[in-house]
Amino acid sequence: MVEQLSCADLGIEPELVLPIPEAPFPYLWFSGRVLPWEQPVVHVTTAGWPSIQAVFEGIRGYWNEEQGTLSIFRLPEHLDRFAASMKLMRMQPEITTSELTDAFVDLCRANAPAGDVYLQPLAFLAGVRGGSGPVDSLTPEITITMRPNPSALLSGKSLRACFSSWVRISDDALPPRIKALPNYANSRLAANEARLGGYDVPIFLNRQGKVAESSGSCVFMVRNGAVVTPQATDSILESVTRATLLELVERELGLPVRERPIDRTELYVADEVFLCGTSMEVTPVTEIDGFTIGSGTMGTVTVRIERLYHDVVRGIDTRYIHWLTRT
Ligand code: PMP
Repeated sequence: MVEQLSCADLGIEPELVLPIPEAPFPYLWFSGRVLPWEQPVVHVTTAGWPSIQAVFEGIRGYWNEEQGTLSIFRLPEHLDRFAASMKLMRMQPEITTSELTDAFVDLCRANAPAGDVYLQPLAFLAGVRGGSGPVDSLTPEITITMRPNPSALLSGKSLRACFSSWVRISDDALPPRIKALPNYANSRLAANEARLGGYDVPIFLNRQGKVAESSGSCVFMVRNGAVVTPQATDSILESVTRATLLELVERELGLPVRERPIDRTELYVADEVFLCGTSMEVTPVTEIDGFTIGSGTMGTVTVRIERLYHDVVRGIDTRYIHWLTRT
């Protein structure tokens, strides 16, 4: 373990060091090692610019109180998407998937949480400046950070949504398939607009005028007994939670699932609408643009899906234990 160095040790005046964000846990992972949170720093001229070409993941670790263990949900699938995002941004990581998997386990063990966590790997090219930067030496820097993040599953929470006046980014400009930091400028514009308008979340339409996704989650509706979500080509992130639910709902609940374009007005008259994502988990939307969805409370299908998802991510439903990486 690297010892902690102070500004005095490094010969730097403390006034020249920007405040280091408070540590959510004592350690992070950077460049092949578990390090104290304060340790890795960047030069002030580097701040910001590499975000232009940075990609990341959001992954949950669920705590099992009885066993005193933390399990990461669908880590291989998140690492696959991380690899695809890096590929599309022309990054060539030297680290292997198996080494990256070990990095997550090592970091979780070092921080020894006693509750649910959120894990965030980030890959960036240190030399990026504006629209230019390195194009031929593309080994990214990779960090992994984690923070406490209690699950809201089974909490009874519901959301009020609005359609955004902002259109979702598309594959011909800023592909939503890449989990890239710049995509979240589009998300922020919509999320800010929704919040200032008194709503909890925005729902984007895509350039074709069909339902895309929310600012950080995917959209599902229940209509005429089927569980329906936009297609992977409808300007959405290829969500791990969406794929999980498509598989679980059909196999375990025996309900028909459909991936197809969805009209805005279909959501208004749907029996149920819910959002899903790693962070969002499964959360019902009970009102959109002043239209009450279904009965205005969490629908019976959403209740079943949320319970199933809860049991799977917590390892209570042992049929899907292979989706959990024990740390
Ligand atoms: N769409 C967007 C824009 C997101 O940021 C997220 C969260 N990663 C999702 C959908 C849901 O994806 P996942 O289920 O893989 O977390």
